[in-house]
Amino acid sequence: MRIDKAKCIGCANCVPICPMGAIYIADDGLSEINEEACVECYACYRGMSTENLPQQPTRFLRGVLAFFKLRFQPDPDICPSGAITADELVWPRTLRRAFSDPQIPHESTGDGGRGTQ
Ligand code: SF4
Ligand code: SF4
Repeated sequence: MRIDKAKCIGCANCVPICPMGAIYIADDGLSEINEEACVECYACYRGMSTENLPQQPTRFLRGVLAFFKLRFQPDPDICPSGAITADELVWPRTLRRAFSDPQIPHESTGDGGRGTQ
């Protein structure tokens, strides 16, 4: 999983979604995913609705509002800019998903739920 920095506005809605604590706000004010900690469960990708707000105007608006002690914050289950990006996984990261994402069929058994019924 990856955060598209060209889209992220740094709202931090995705941070508490991750069961592994792999998502954090970096020094640039945008979110990042710790690849070592991410188990490719897809909870962040599937669990949040997305909107397509443009990054620069939205960040500018948030900055202006913050100056006046006001806040524009999207609903907590929304990634307002659709920045959470699912790249095509390659070995060995495919293994992480097979054992962490309950919604895909396991390659060896054909069953979902991490390969067991
Ligand atoms: S929810 Fe989306 S826009 Fe907000 S910090 Fe996470 S990736 Fe960035
Ligand atoms: S795929 Fe799962 S483990 Fe990885 S960042 Fe998203 S919620 Fe966290």
